[in-house]
Amino acid sequence: MSHPGAVQSDKHKVVIIGSGFGGLNAAQKLRRADVDIKLIAKTTHHLFQPLLYQVATGILSEGEIAPPTRLIMRKQRNAQVVLGEATHIDLVNQTVDSVLLGHSYRTPYDSLIIAAGAGQSYFGNDQFAEWAPGMKTIDDALELRGRILGAFEQAERSSDPVRREKLLTFVVVGAGPTGVEMAGQIAELSDSTLKGAFRHIDPTQARVILIEGADQVLPPMGPKLGAKAHKRLEKLGVEIQLNAMVTDVDRNGLVVKYKDGTSKRIESATKVWSAGVAASPLGADLARQSDTEIDRAGRVKVLPDLTIPGHPNVWVVGDMAFVEGVPGQAQGAIQGAKYAADLIKAELKGASPDSRAPFKYFNKGSMAAVSKYSAVAQVGKLEFGGFLAWLAWLGLHLIYLVGFQSKLMTVLSWTRSFLSPGRGQLTMTEQQAYARTRIEQLEEIAAVENEKAG
Ligand SMILES: Cc1cc2nc3c(=O)[nH]c(=O)nc-3n(C[C@H](O)[C@H](O)[C@H](O)COP(=O)(O)OP(=O)(O)OC[C@H]3O[C@@H](n4cnc5c(N)ncnc54)[C@H](O)[C@@H]3O)c2cc1C
Repeated sequence: MSHPGAVQSDKHKVVIIGSGFGGLNAAQKLRRADVDIKLIAKTTHHLFQPLLYQVATGILSEGEIAPPTRLIMRKQRNAQVVLGEATHIDLVNQTVDSVLLGHSYRTPYDSLIIAAGAGQSYFGNDQFAEWAPGMKTIDDALELRGRILGAFEQAERSSDPVRREKLLTFVVVGAGPTGVEMAGQIAELSDSTLKGAFRHIDPTQARVILIEGADQVLPPMGPKLGAKAHKRLEKLGVEIQLNAMVTDVDRNGLVVKYKDGTSKRIESATKVWSAGVAASPLGADLARQSDTEIDRAGRVKVLPDLTIPGHPNVWVVGDMAFVEGVPGQAQGAIQGAKYAADLIKAELKGASPDSRAPFKYFNKGSMAAVSKYSAVAQVGKLEFGGFLAWLAWLGLHLIYLVGFQSKLMTVLSWTRSFLSPGRGQLTMTEQQAYARTRIEQLEEIAAVENEKAG
């Protein structure tokens, strides 16, 4: 089925997959081009992933970091936003197949920009996901919020000291920027926001453990900034375990193996996984049909113009692409997407694909907020931490948040949580807290029923 109500036109058809940093920027860059754009995305929103941890820990609401893509694009008349999950790209017939609630659609393209991003990787142990959700989607963040706050509630009702300790032990796996930010926020939530709110437990006694396989926190940011973040986290009471690999995760805890070969079990009801990424399976789909190669994380090894071999009209950008020297960060996706859109525009005006200059990445630096008033930042050769880095972090995140309304609401929420211990988004629902386990149960029931039906 083609898209119902879609206007048929003879214009050059650009299909974009994904409404994240890559997809949205590609579409916006083509706003004045004489093309017909279809933006296919599996969520209705554009998600600002860097602030997901603030949704998980009750500072921001999901609406503040995930405005509807349709509303962002409402004035761009050459673009249509279509909801659906792209499942297959036919490189020969130049079509994209997508599904929405069991209905299938086929969308033809002349040019295709794929920006489907990456999901969480459990390094072959996908069963860990049930007990240690990742931090990739709004669903993940809300579920984690439910689990974190739910653990305090259950601990309040428990008279068993062993169970209480397990409920008040929070483990974050992976000390990259997300893990560091998450650990810092759970520590501040328990030490400050929830202080005095319970009668039988003392939330400030909660343990927050951060586990990292490398020998420092924030491995991509180097030893100096890693040490700064480490010190700050320890000051917040976070227990850091380095050179430590998680080898098993279950409902009640996890097993950690250390460099010296010893292993230890940690009893913990709430685990957060922020240890690895796996690119969209669409990369493997391309590799099956062309000379495209993918790396171990499933990222597409693109050519210097970000296209795939034999298909100069198919670009792969952002977290789905492997480009030497380009980190899996928002800037990589934004710059790659704009580069691809610029090529489409230039070639529609007559430029030859043979004259393409290779993609050049401009490194604007990276940052991580460790806690309220403290961050670490790397800009060019400059490395700094503390309050100044935190101010820079604030400013930069505000600039890149999409839409005036999101920026305004975020500033208001931040003002509240920075000037007081309060947080405005501590609502949790039972559905959020148990979502993953319930869905797994439903899937198991469906599998049994399918088997019975033959
Ligand atoms: C928790 C977290 C914190 C981060 N913090 C920072 C930070 O501080 N600074 C920084 O620079 N970067 C940060 N990043 C990384 C940054 O968010 C990513 O590099 C960036 O989002 C990549 O953009 P993208 O467009 O490639 O993918 P995404 O932004 O992930 O977008 C992918 C889009 O594709 C859609 N999609 C996926 N599969 C399909 C499909 N089959 N069909 C249709 N649509 C599909 C998704 O729904 C989504 O809309 C963070 C990431 C996470 C997860």
